[in-house]
Amino acid sequence: MSSCSRPFNFSAGPSVMPLAVLEQIENDLLSWQGQGLSVMEMSHRSDEFMHICQQAENDLRCLLAIPEHFKILFMQGGGTGANAAIPLNLSQTGTVDMLITGHWSAHSKQEAEKYARVHTVFSGQANHYRDIAPIEQWQFSKGAAYLHVCSNETVHGVALTQLPDLTALGINIPLVVDCSSDIASRAIDWNLVGVAFAGAQKNLGPAGLTVIVVREDLLGRALPICPSIFNFELLAKHHSMYNTPPTWSIYVAGLVFKWSLAQRDGELSGLAAIEARNQRKASLLYSTIEQSNFYYSQVDKNVRSKMNVPFFLKKTALTPTFLQQASQQGLIQLAGHKALGGVRASLYNAMPESGVQQLADFMQQFERSYA
Ligand code: PMP
Repeated sequence: MSSCSRPFNFSAGPSVMPLAVLEQIENDLLSWQGQGLSVMEMSHRSDEFMHICQQAENDLRCLLAIPEHFKILFMQGGGTGANAAIPLNLSQTGTVDMLITGHWSAHSKQEAEKYARVHTVFSGQANHYRDIAPIEQWQFSKGAAYLHVCSNETVHGVALTQLPDLTALGINIPLVVDCSSDIASRAIDWNLVGVAFAGAQKNLGPAGLTVIVVREDLLGRALPICPSIFNFELLAKHHSMYNTPPTWSIYVAGLVFKWSLAQRDGELSGLAAIEARNQRKASLLYSTIEQSNFYYSQVDKNVRSKMNVPFFLKKTALTPTFLQQASQQGLIQLAGHKALGGVRASLYNAMPESGVQQLADFMQQFERSYA
């Protein structure tokens, strides 16, 4: 199947994959590198798979410039599993601080409450998660084991433009970042981070793989009730092979890491090229919304996500028609999350600029027809 017969897929996740990666998988599906078997059929202990896994880890480290004193863990359980794994590994003091900026950090809080006392440093709920107070206004607790933040709220389209610098505030606790929906979309300052986690199914590859990047000094603190498969120290010791890892998802994610490293944009390469492209895609969509009298965004301009863009039609009743016509024109999976309604366009790394241009053109044409 050629690329032109594929629609532009704006799903929030699982989401669009790089076409070159899908083609390579198709090519290697039955016989990986001419060996007569699929990666799906390989023992996770085989030399071949161990090599695939190590290469994926090396490439991810290179792509995200992850320093050596961080371990990269390939786990299962998704972001939801990580929401439990984080307090199970890190909440020895019994209290954890959380920044609540939308649907997913609220979800993380609910899970953490099973294992620890949760103190909210700031919640955007009263203002329908449309903005984030500046860090000077966050109310930290005394004796929290860590601060949990979500760097990109997939449902509400709210993002932290930069990660909080806790040390600069004189707060000496690790920062935990749920970067499920913006990992590998922009650079991460690892000096600020204790643990970063992400389900793979947006920018990294297929569902089933969860990536945890954990600073070495944070290993070995798990609560006794922590399940072995979530124990960061155990996973690090066994190079993510304590039990059978999601081998197929690791293999495909490894191909996505290579694809990401190979991206070019003028002089820029790898993550810098991806980031520049993401900036242009988001600017195009937000300016299309801003310049119209027909669409609107509810999110404060300072905290708008470049990955997930929820927006609304002023004439709400036209939303189903908008979605239906978009789909007929090859612009699919644009319906907003059930919690918000409206429209949501997810602009992950594998969404080409031409897809966002087509969406912008469609939006203008729809506005001309129905304004
Ligand atoms: N955190 C964020 C920011 C998410 O977007 C999601 C899923 N969309 C999750 C956590 C939960 O991830 P999962 O479905 O992999 O459990």
